[in-house]
Amino acid sequence: MTVSLWQVNGSQPIREVDFLVVGAGIVGCAAAYFAGQAGRQVVITEMRDIALGASSRNAGMIVVGVDSSYPLPVFREMWALSQRTQDYLLGFAERNGVAVNRSGSVALAETPAEAKALQAQAKMFEAEGIACEYTDSDPFGRGWCGALRRPDDAVVQPYELVQAVFKESGAELVANNELYHIVQDDAEVVTVYTRQYTFKARQVLLCTNAYSVHIDPYFVGKVTPTRGQCLATAPLPHTPLLGNAACHSDHGYFYFRDTFDGRLLIGGGRKTNKLLEGSTTDDRTTEPVQRTLEAYLWKHFPDVDAPIERRWAGIMGFSVDGLPLVGRLPDKPRVGFAVGFTGHGLALGVGTAERAVDMLLTGASVGAVDAGRINRN
Ligand SMILES: Cc1cc2nc3c(=O)[nH]c(=O)nc-3n(C[C@H](O)[C@H](O)[C@H](O)COP(=O)(O)OP(=O)(O)OC[C@H]3O[C@@H](n4cnc5c(N)ncnc54)[C@H](O)[C@@H]3O)c2cc1C
Repeated sequence: MTVSLWQVNGSQPIREVDFLVVGAGIVGCAAAYFAGQAGRQVVITEMRDIALGASSRNAGMIVVGVDSSYPLPVFREMWALSQRTQDYLLGFAERNGVAVNRSGSVALAETPAEAKALQAQAKMFEAEGIACEYTDSDPFGRGWCGALRRPDDAVVQPYELVQAVFKESGAELVANNELYHIVQDDAEVVTVYTRQYTFKARQVLLCTNAYSVHIDPYFVGKVTPTRGQCLATAPLPHTPLLGNAACHSDHGYFYFRDTFDGRLLIGGGRKTNKLLEGSTTDDRTTEPVQRTLEAYLWKHFPDVDAPIERRWAGIMGFSVDGLPLVGRLPDKPRVGFAVGFTGHGLALGVGTAERAVDMLLTGASVGAVDAGRINRN
């Protein structure tokens, strides 16, 4: 984003802010909630409006945990963070009447090799005391060759969920207000230049995920904007097709679920289109990915005879190792960040936001999500 000479004439009013959050997605709203709980006066500045980024464009699956290939201590820590996230989200949903269904998740195998990998994962989960059940067959009779079910996962209406988190945060939202420059004035104050105001903030937390590279060069090479796409059919006569579970296959490259109004939603299709879908913040759909999703629909759901009523895209922030990044900008110690959710921000966002706020307010360690690991490795 650039700002022309004419747009910034120096007349933006100055506003003093205690705790400024940038970005009103699930992570920014959760951060505002935690900072508010800690007694801080919170303002969120957002370039669009509440949850118009990835947080309302996702598939709404809360699948706890991270990939089992991380070293065991990291896996365990991230599992606990994700479990905490789910607990928070179910609480927000329940208190605010947000549509949620705790029908579990099912990882499905496209090939015998993937089935073997799921079986190995099941063994690892069992050893860790994680509830799961592996079967060599396809519970839905739709051409998969193995399934790993986890009973505790959930699907949700993600847009309503972010609005609920925002409501409980008690924060003020300044919408249509893009941040374009940050200066750490001195040890106490950060000046944040935005379209409508010049904020003087005691603390700033960037929750700008995929868009962070446009804010500070620190994020270049650390968070890559990556497009994700979905389609949804018209409501179907006989539903649910998938028992309302959060389903995925091909190691997560495809994901699908029943919606609350009886549609089939399918997302993913990026694996064979990576060049096209990487390094972009353009959230329009693309033909190759939509054709890939349609081919998947015809392959596994040939009986679904309904038009596709909606197609959309959203921009994820992929970190280099797939885990979120939390830290402070090197030259701006009062500016923290919680970014890089790599397609798992519903599953990891709230717990990560909690740690980021704690870090800024108390100096607490953020553990496995510490962005310092990237420079160290
Ligand atoms: C198609 C798709 C499917 C997905 N499915 C799932 C799923 O099922 N489960 C799951 O866990 N995750 C899923 N994800 C990922 C998940 O949606 C994200 O990880 C999560 O929403 C990230 O939240 P966030 O708040 O960090 O980012 P965002 O929701 O993108 O919020 C960032 C906000 O910052 C604002 N912003 C950016 N720059 C500025 C600026 N300069 N000034 C002011 N505001 C700014 C943006 O407008 C935006 O609102 C999916 C993502 C996509 C795209």
